[in-house]
Amino acid sequence: MKYDVIIIGAGAAGFGCALNLGSANDKFDWAKDKKYLMLDDNKSDLNVGRYCNVAGVEFGINGVDLLVKMKNQIKNYPAIELKEEKATKIEKIGNTFKVTTENSTFESEIVVLATGLHKFDIEVDGVVVKDNIFVPKPNLIYLENKNNVIAPNLYVAGLASGVPTMFACASGDGTKVACDIFTQWSGKVAVVHDVKA
Ligand SMILES: Cc1cc2nc3c(=O)[nH]c(=O)nc-3n(C[C@H](O)[C@H](O)[C@H](O)COP(=O)(O)OP(=O)(O)OC[C@H]3O[C@@H](n4cnc5c(N)ncnc54)[C@H](O)[C@@H]3O)c2cc1C
Repeated sequence: MKYDVIIIGAGAAGFGCALNLGSANDKFDWAKDKKYLMLDDNKSDLNVGRYCNVAGVEFGINGVDLLVKMKNQIKNYPAIELKEEKATKIEKIGNTFKVTTENSTFESEIVVLATGLHKFDIEVDGVVVKDNIFVPKPNLIYLENKNNVIAPNLYVAGLASGVPTMFACASGDGTKVACDIFTQWSGKVAVVHDVKA
């Protein structure tokens, strides 16, 4: 199955990216008919956290409940699919990425790595895993990047890109990557805003 964007990781960054991508489809001709796939192996830090300081989010929400809310939120955008599968390998064949999981293979024009800061165990050329010097704890990683870009059409978002380890930073970084993809597709600066009727 071929997608326009595959996002690996469905945590704060992955959902921040996917929700913004999916919200563009019915607003812009250049986004019409685009298809997005999220792949996730359910190890988000949200599974263990409790959230009191995320603006606009219910005080003290259990991270598992926050994940459920985001999973439900993407259902508003039929262009987004979420599959519980661990990505194991990414290959670039011509202009297409082939993403292999434990069960299947998927193809995409663009890949976003939103894999968090614990480890990076996907076999892929050109990704440099570094010690995460932007966090207070040891033995964590980020992926070398320039302004969220690792290589043409290969982006990184969230804690994997080296942002501070706060939900809003990770989610916002995913959103920023979605906007960068919009710019790439439309050839101009683009954002998606809904306006009340
Ligand atoms: C105990 C705890 C408490 C916290 N409390 C707060 C708080 O109070 N306020 C706050 O703002 N932040 C808090 N945080 C931080 C917040 O949870 C993170 O900043 C946020 O979850 C990071 O989002 P992310 O998308 O970058 O990574 P994650 O949410 O960790 O998501 C990464 C996702 O990638 C998936 N993945 C990785 N590799 C693969 C692969 N090969 N294939 C498929 N999927 C893959 C993982 O399974 C995971 O679901 C807390 C964190 C912890 C651990």
